[in-house]
Amino acid sequence: MRHRTRGAIGTAKTVVVQRSERRHVDASAVEISKTVVDQRSEGPQMVASVMEISKTVVDQRSEELQMVASAMVISKTVVDQRNEKLQKVATPCFKWMLHKCERTAADCKFAHRKCTEIEKPAFEKYKTQEKEREAKKKLATVAAAQLDAAANKEAKAAAKAEAKAKAKAEAGK
Ligand SMILES: [Zn+2]
Repeated sequence: MRHRTRGAIGTAKTVVVQRSERRHVDASAVEISKTVVDQRSEGPQMVASVMEISKTVVDQRSEELQMVASAMVISKTVVDQRNEKLQKVATPCFKWMLHKCERTAADCKFAHRKCTEIEKPAFEKYKTQEKEREAKKKLATVAAAQLDAAANKEAKAAAKAEAKAKAKAEAGK
């Protein structure tokens, strides 16, 4: 009876050991799955830092492009200014040669200088056109004055006629 009991205790002990062994197995399974989860969460983290790096690269590239773009704008401005200067040197101011330019040499779009032999025909043409323009202007002014005078005359005549009629009507009373 005592022996049997002892045997029963022994068996129970074995069961407990086996149970705690199983628990241990469970625990290491938990440990493994935790490691897997850790590795998995490290994955997205790596993706995030790769994205961060590529974003930085893109940022640097767009900064470089922006610098290139502004450098291009600057060089375009320089070229424009040079072109303006060249144009100024190239084209003499015909108005200045006729003593009609109201601008100073610095403000004028054209160069205040005498024209060269090559430029003289163009200047002569300009002079002719200018004369024609002035003649037209004069004509228009004269025509306007004549029209004005005619209208004035008509108005005066009408006033005279009205006065005459009024006087006649009063005399008839
Ligand atoms: Zn001028």
